[in-house]
Amino acid sequence: MIKTIRVMIIPNNRQRTRLFQFTGTARFAYNWALEEENKNYASGGKFLSDYELRKQFTQLKHDEKYKWLYTISNNVCKQAIKDAVEAYKKFFKGLAQYPKYKSRKQSKPSFYTDPIKIKFTKTHVKLENIVLSKKKNRQSINWFRLAEYDRIPKTGKYFNPRISYDGINWFLTVGIETEKQCTKKCDNEGIGIDLGVKDLAICSSGHVYKNINKTSRVRRLKKKQRRLQRQISRKYLKNKKGEKFQKTCNIIKSEKKLLKLNHRLTDIRTDYIQQVTTEIIKREPSFIVMEDLNVKGMMKNKHLAKAVQKQRLYDFYKALQYKCDWNGIKFITADRFYASSKICSVCGHKKKDLKLSDRTYRCENCGAVIDRDFNASVNLYKYGKSIVNH
Ligand SMILES: [Zn+2]
Repeated sequence: MIKTIRVMIIPNNRQRTRLFQFTGTARFAYNWALEEENKNYASGGKFLSDYELRKQFTQLKHDEKYKWLYTISNNVCKQAIKDAVEAYKKFFKGLAQYPKYKSRKQSKPSFYTDPIKIKFTKTHVKLENIVLSKKKNRQSINWFRLAEYDRIPKTGKYFNPRISYDGINWFLTVGIETEKQCTKKCDNEGIGIDLGVKDLAICSSGHVYKNINKTSRVRRLKKKQRRLQRQISRKYLKNKKGEKFQKTCNIIKSEKKLLKLNHRLTDIRTDYIQQVTTEIIKREPSFIVMEDLNVKGMMKNKHLAKAVQKQRLYDFYKALQYKCDWNGIKFITADRFYASSKICSVCGHKKKDLKLSDRTYRCENCGAVIDRDFNASVNLYKYGKSIVNH
């Protein structure tokens, strides 16, 4: 099983300059590949494979104008072209939207590095060919300090290492082959989980996990965020010269502050998802049932779309699925058409009209009055039970 680990790296000034050159090159190669695909398609050609594109790219290097490409490790462009082709392919199959060009301002700077040549010590990571000179004092630039001590095993197989920049810090993401640790047997009662708008998750065991966005901590931060956003846009208006907006040092400072705040909010939300999922797993249920998070379907409903985005329901689903797999717990996804919220969990009667605004479930058949989300979670639990028993 492959476990993905993300660690912060702390580059020095020289290294940072180099990293930005690498991310810039990756962006260039990605955009170049997309453009070639587009041109080719417009002139009636078929889909270009990444092999063909890479061959063309090597030709490009002979051009005097693109000589600088020789100063960057080959792997960076190779993978960037592969990524672009992959994105294009996904679009053709109808699995994704039309791939966008990576802009300097909007896209997240990142690049790929060779997984075979990557090396770890407890405190440092060696990335191959950050500098091409073989001199010893230059070679030391290949060693990057890690922010966490002894986080990544020194031996083993590494997959798809990527370096990225979030606007403040640099990160290394790498997959590591690990053995499953499942030894204990989870034989407690299974749990059905309904994800909601009001609360994050409602369990059939009676546990309710509140919506993190409604806590005073997040609210306070969000208020700060709004204030900063207003401040920045005011500053932009104030410094407008004719038709053009100007970026002043103060604006840059404020924008950095806003970025930090945004990261903090993301971190709080990610952390919360990890906490809740771990807590659920720690109860050692024999199975876990969740609704199919048909994101596309949910996105059509404006109200739900916001909740999915803000509460990161999809991440919650993925994290729980991953942890179940890791711990040997059966993870069941209820069929998309299984109406978990419309069925009465007491008598099994199916209600025809249930609005999203109806927060309590009132059964016409047996007269039961239950909280809407709890009712759904019990139904999901029953659904799972019926599958497990078969
Ligand atoms: Zn009923």
